[in-house]
Amino acid sequence: MTMKKEVQTCKRCIYTTAHPLGLTVDDEGICSGCRIHEEKDSLDWQARWEMLEKLVQPYRSKDPYNYDCIIPVTGANDSYYIVHTVKNRLKLNPLLVTYNKYFNTPLGIRNLANLRIRFNCDILIQNVNPISVRKITRASLRRFGSIYWPCLAGQTVFPVQTAVRYQVPLIIWGAHQGLEQVGMFSHEHEVEMTRRYRKDHDLLGTEADDLLSLFDTLSEEDIWQYRYPDDRELNSVGVRGIYLGNYVRWDPKAQHEQMIREFGYQSAGFARTFDCYDHVDCFNFMNLHDQLKLYKHGYSKVTDHACREIRHGRLTREQGLRLVRKFELQPIRYDDLFCQWLGVTQRGLQFMIDQHRNPDFWVEIGPGQWIFAGCSTREVCSIDTTPTDRDCSCHFESTSVMDDRPNPSYIVVGKGYPLN
Ligand SMILES: [Zn+2]
Repeated sequence: MTMKKEVQTCKRCIYTTAHPLGLTVDDEGICSGCRIHEEKDSLDWQARWEMLEKLVQPYRSKDPYNYDCIIPVTGANDSYYIVHTVKNRLKLNPLLVTYNKYFNTPLGIRNLANLRIRFNCDILIQNVNPISVRKITRASLRRFGSIYWPCLAGQTVFPVQTAVRYQVPLIIWGAHQGLEQVGMFSHEHEVEMTRRYRKDHDLLGTEADDLLSLFDTLSEEDIWQYRYPDDRELNSVGVRGIYLGNYVRWDPKAQHEQMIREFGYQSAGFARTFDCYDHVDCFNFMNLHDQLKLYKHGYSKVTDHACREIRHGRLTREQGLRLVRKFELQPIRYDDLFCQWLGVTQRGLQFMIDQHRNPDFWVEIGPGQWIFAGCSTREVCSIDTTPTDRDCSCHFESTSVMDDRPNPSYIVVGKGYPLN
């Protein structure tokens, strides 16, 4: 048995040193993520924008019919803002690429169609065969308690493969998660995409080829689409991936609201968080995937959202904590669709995911009965935990719903959407 390290909590936000990306707390009790966030108010963003303009200059194609860069997109997240910044402000001609994760909501399909039409961009869609995706999902759910390995692997590798194939070396991403959440780097390090970060953090330390030795159910035909190009290929094209968050003051809430107003991005409410803007393209991200995060790490996405809003000064620490307590144990939705897709019963699924409850955060009091003892429960909250109107100082606007059909189902392959 390993000795449990003492967990420290940040005095400003509500992250703890148990954060899976790694986080430190300084002598004043403030975490590395909050410290790096302070740079957003001290850096000269005009100067950083000029650095970005210089950086992209050599990538402008002389030929008006060629692409200048690649942008990985989805029907949610920061896709609209990235495309807007690259196309309208930097005046580059991007090729959009998207990996089909199969758990698509109608709203996600609509947002993606509206994105390529409104910004007038070409798009490539990668559909890996559903049999392999299901096989990998089943294996990684059992072993790592993750349903998202193929999504994360596909999303992070397809743009790189496309850069090599199309010989378009520059890939432009949004913010770097390690920087935004835990302050792994300073903005001034101008960190770029690496194979190493993808493996360690996005892929739970497991590359496509590692899957072959871990699971005898998987073969070469199942995994080759997720293989990262080798250094020789990357170097021959000069592939590099940059993060806009190093050059633009990153504020997802303000950015999404601008995209709703100016380009018709649509948002939707969730049962497990107050942020209506991210992940509206996926039935599972804010549901089963989020619940697994709570099982394994003792906190869920609502904590990420609360920490971000506290750092931007739109929530107090107490308000953030109250919102976390309000949302984190809410029941998930759409797990029936996932069971149908994977071919398991709901009891079978529950049994599988219970294996991944981390005993640091969950106490089993009887067969199948658990008490949550996660990060937020260690906080002393002197006031009533019932949310009040004061929490609305951080208002998120929901303009639509993920699926308005009477019988929701995954849009397995969706190309367009009737736009009105
Ligand atoms: Zn903090």
